[in-house]
Amino acid sequence: MDNLESQNLAVCFEDVAAAHDRIRNVAHRTPVMTSRTANDLAGARIYFKCENLQRGGAFKFRGAYNALSQFTPGQKAKGVITFSSGNHAQAIALAAQILSIRAVIVMPLDSPPVKLAATRGYGAEVVLYDRYKEDSEAISRKLAAEHDLTLIPPYDHAHIIAGQGTAAKELFEDAGSMDVLITPLGGGGLLAGSAIAAKALHPACTIIGVEPEAGNDGQQSLRRGEIVHIETPKTIADGAQTRHLGELTFPVLRRHVDEIVTVSDAQLVEAMSFFASRMKILVEPTGCLAAAALFSKVIPGRGRKAGIVLSGGNVDLKQSL
Ligand SMILES: *Cc1c(COP(=O)(O)O)cnc(C)c1O
Repeated sequence: MDNLESQNLAVCFEDVAAAHDRIRNVAHRTPVMTSRTANDLAGARIYFKCENLQRGGAFKFRGAYNALSQFTPGQKAKGVITFSSGNHAQAIALAAQILSIRAVIVMPLDSPPVKLAATRGYGAEVVLYDRYKEDSEAISRKLAAEHDLTLIPPYDHAHIIAGQGTAAKELFEDAGSMDVLITPLGGGGLLAGSAIAAKALHPACTIIGVEPEAGNDGQQSLRRGEIVHIETPKTIADGAQTRHLGELTFPVLRRHVDEIVTVSDAQLVEAMSFFASRMKILVEPTGCLAAAALFSKVIPGRGRKAGIVLSGGNVDLKQSL
């Protein structure tokens, strides 16, 4: 890891461009929105990439479809398995349905009923596990081996990272160069893919990741120069409750990301209500991470042109209201 420049990363811009060609006719090219009120609030010129309006309700469909569409005929015939309680589960289920591939999703017993229903609604088989006693990744690996299924993890996979980078690529194509690009950070698939796209298209663009305050393992990892593991953080940003960065995502973040900052749950709630009341869009708490950092001046606006990825819009209104 000493010579960062000579170290090969798992994904390059050509992979993001190829992923874009694969998903182009299947994923939505989501709109880029602007708001003068948001600009005034942040002191920046903001371009919001609305992945809350993506199929399946989050950018995760991009990586999932990119990965599944590269399965060999043999892999397609057997099926895919993954472990996730959230948007990756739904994305894999939806992509598998479109490609007529069997999907098995390992989900916690206490997942919100709407999430179980949505995943099953896309035709996936759900295997429940006790998240206080069992390890979902271990269960997935065992089932994958027993049933000859291909495991596609939520972030630490080259095809996932490349697919997630297509949202930023579209943002640059539609809104031009940016002074700064800001995305939420969980396991790092989105931020790594975005950074690869940004550095290839506009090398001078500053790249910032935003984590929930309660789970700043990414910030700690970049500071220490090694992947830091934490306990599952308590935060309303459920899409960023990851316990550590990935073996593939970490080197990309280390090479390309300028800074990782954190915001509180209260700041996320404020941003969420801003999007609902002022911009009339529903953004889930995790999807608000990047915007909340700019609105609350954790990241100074400085009149900069800022790209923000609104990463998802799956909110359980029954639970929230
Ligand atoms: C998964 C997810 C994230 C985090 O993405 P990573 O690739 O794990 O960093 C952020 N926002 C939403 C809405 C998500 O579903």
